[in-house]
Formats: sequence, structure tokens, C-alpha cells
Amino acid sequence: MTKAAVYATLNQPLEIMELNLMDPQVGEVRIALGASGVCHSDLSVINGTLPIPPPAVLGHEGAGTVVAVGLGVTNVKVGDHVVISWVPQCGTCYTCSRDQGELCETGATASMFGTMLDYTSRFSMKDGTAVAQMSASGTFAEETVVPAISCIKIPDDVPFQIAALIGCGVLTGFGAAVNTANIREGDNVVVVGAGGVGLNTIQGAKHKGAGKIIAVDMVDGKLETAASVGATHTINASNGDAIEQVMALTDGRGADVAFEVIGFPATIRQSFDMTRKGGETVIVGVPRLDQTMEFNPGMDFVIAEKTLKGCWYGGANVHRDVPMLISQYKNGSLKLDELISREIKLEEVNSAMDEMHGGHIARSVIVY
Ligand SMILES: [Zn+2]
Ligand SMILES: [Zn+2]
Repeated sequence: MTKAAVYATLNQPLEIMELNLMDPQVGEVRIALGASGVCHSDLSVINGTLPIPPPAVLGHEGAGTVVAVGLGVTNVKVGDHVVISWVPQCGTCYTCSRDQGELCETGATASMFGTMLDYTSRFSMKDGTAVAQMSASGTFAEETVVPAISCIKIPDDVPFQIAALIGCGVLTGFGAAVNTANIREGDNVVVVGAGGVGLNTIQGAKHKGAGKIIAVDMVDGKLETAASVGATHTINASNGDAIEQVMALTDGRGADVAFEVIGFPATIRQSFDMTRKGGETVIVGVPRLDQTMEFNPGMDFVIAEKTLKGCWYGGANVHRDVPMLISQYKNGSLKLDELISREIKLEEVNSAMDEMHGGHIARSVIVY
């Protein structure tokens, strides 16, 4: 048995309950969670933006200790500390072999359905009802079982709170700037949305040698954090027209690269309009899947020669990027301690969701 926070009903708080957890099967690993971040995508499941059918153990930003391995597992062993990737990445399929591990054909579908790679879950209720596990992970639990290809071994001296953040917010945000976008040295960059992911996009832009890094948000506290991790300018979008302010900071031209890290059509449009001719706009936030937008292909794309790109999981090869991010954290160039707003217990997960919904907090982390 293991204690977990279960999504049982749309738009209702998660329920804390004891669940059965099966032993790891072939190619699977059982993990005692050390920490799990509470990410906006967890909230997106509860409000229906990301359709995972309940009941499901949410949580996908986790790190912990391997406590058992199934047959055939060679990349980790009992006692190893690991970061869990919410896209299992096999390293050998069509997309993995083209450096698009974030779209891994072995892992992506299972991860969308909330199951393991064989389309079944390892969690169940006392009456035997199967309970899905978000992104083949389910880190809102004391223990979980995940595919071995989701595990990246990390040094024992990295705190689990930090390692957990790397599993989603850091890989996604930093990767958007480093893997997905084409930022050249001295480029002016704007990041719309300075939450748990956007703050890491700012750090990725800094890593790439961007010139001005302009953070846009509506919460002053988040903008202060943005400045502390590398934003050179901050704009509170509730004070006047944010597009005009970006134009004023970029000689009326617009940013070379704009990132939208919220997931609303209105802010995607705004980010696109903040982008200069010939520049690129990267959508990192996940909009509701039933939303559409209109563009003028002649004006927006041909004549202005703008590029609009999507970014899934920071375009990350997790087996390459997690060790890189850990070493940058250790040498002090990647700031992660600053990103943790609050450490909580599993039972407090709903209050963390409420605070995130209110937009006032960058990251709460569950410590087990
Ligand atoms: Zn996430
Ligand atoms: Zn693959």
C-alpha cells in the first residue's frame, strides 16, 4: 500500500487515499519519492485542460530513490537516486534517433493516457479499481512504479526538492530557450509568464547569451524572482500595454525571440505581436485542446517572415539534459533554490493547487 493524492472528480480537490501498488514489471522501477513539485499541468488535469480520465494519481515532477527493479532493468539499481522524466524516452525509436526524445514514440502515447508502456497502471484502489498514473509517473504518492526509461540517475548529494524541479519545470523552461528556440548571442528575448517554467526559460536565455531578457507577468513577486534569475527588464502587464513597452525596449522592432509560457490564445497573440519581423515566437504554455486562433498568413508569416513554434517538454533529451542541468546547478550558474516558494506535505497538495490557481506562487514542492 502507498499513500497518494488521487484525482477522482473533475474540478474537485484531490483525495488522499491508500492505494495498492504492484511490483515493477519487466523494464520497470519502483521508486520511493523524495520530493514532487506541484506543476500547472497537474491543475490542468483537474480542470479538464489535459484530458486524463479519473481516477488518477497526479504528479509528474518527481525525484526519489529506487527501491525495486523489474526484470531487464540495467540503467538503474536499488538505492540509486533518480529524476523521473514525464515522457519515457527510449533513445532508439524514430523520433529519439532524430534528437526529439520529447516525442519518443515508445513513451509519448502511454504518457498521454496515464498508463505504463503496456497501457495498464500499477495503482489500484482497495476494491481493485485501476487508478491511472499521470505521464507514466504519478509522483503525488509515497511510492510509484515508472518505466526504467523514465529514470535518470543523479548524484546522491543533490537535494530531492531540486532534482524534482528539474523533472518538469526546469527541463521544459530551460530547454525551450536552449533546445527549441534559436537564440543568438545578444538577442533580445521576451518571456511572457514568469511562473515555474518561465523562470527557467529566462535562465536558458541567459545561458545562451541573450542581450535584453524581458519578463512579463502580472504579479510583482514573480517579476522580482525573474530579475533575480536573469531578467534584465520586467514589465507588469497590468500597468499599461505590454506590447508597447516591449517595443520601447527594442528600438520599436520587437524581440528576436518571444516565449509564451502561459497557454492562452490572447497571450500567444501578444507574444507573437512582441516578436520582430524575422523573429520567432515559441509557445511553451499548454492551451486548452479545444482552442483555436486565427492568423493572417500573408502579413504574419510571409511578409513579416515570423516563425511560430510549439515546444513540448523543452525539446529535451532527458538522458543528456538532466545531467547537464545538475552540473550547472552544482557550479552555481543555474539557480534552483530560489524557485521553491514553499515546501509542503502530501496532504497539503490542494492548498498548493489553490495558490497556483491564484497565480501567486512559483512552485510548491511536496517533501516525503
Ligand atoms: Zn509539469
Ligand atoms: Zn524513443
